[in-house]
Amino acid sequence: MVKVDPRHTSQTCSRCGHQARQNRRSQSLFLCRVCGFSVHADVNASRNIAEKHLASLGTSLAGGPPSDGLLSPSSDEGQALALQAQGL
Ligand SMILES: [Zn+2]
Repeated sequence: MVKVDPRHTSQTCSRCGHQARQNRRSQSLFLCRVCGFSVHADVNASRNIAEKHLASLGTSLAGGPPSDGLLSPSSDEGQALALQAQGL
């Protein structure tokens, strides 16, 4: 399993991914030095942990559920349509 280091999650921007000790302005405030993202430090760390956990499962907060192919026609349907087009 993926081990999440809480020290790094508390120093990593959950918006742009920049990691620096300076991002952690105080016990309760996170402020990214790169993109200026400001949020409660615990909220930022929680987002990073959730993102890493979901990434280990093969998905992400931004991506949604992985496609299982139901939205595209099956190969059998495509073959049937091809046969109909040929008059068979
Ligand atoms: Zn940032």
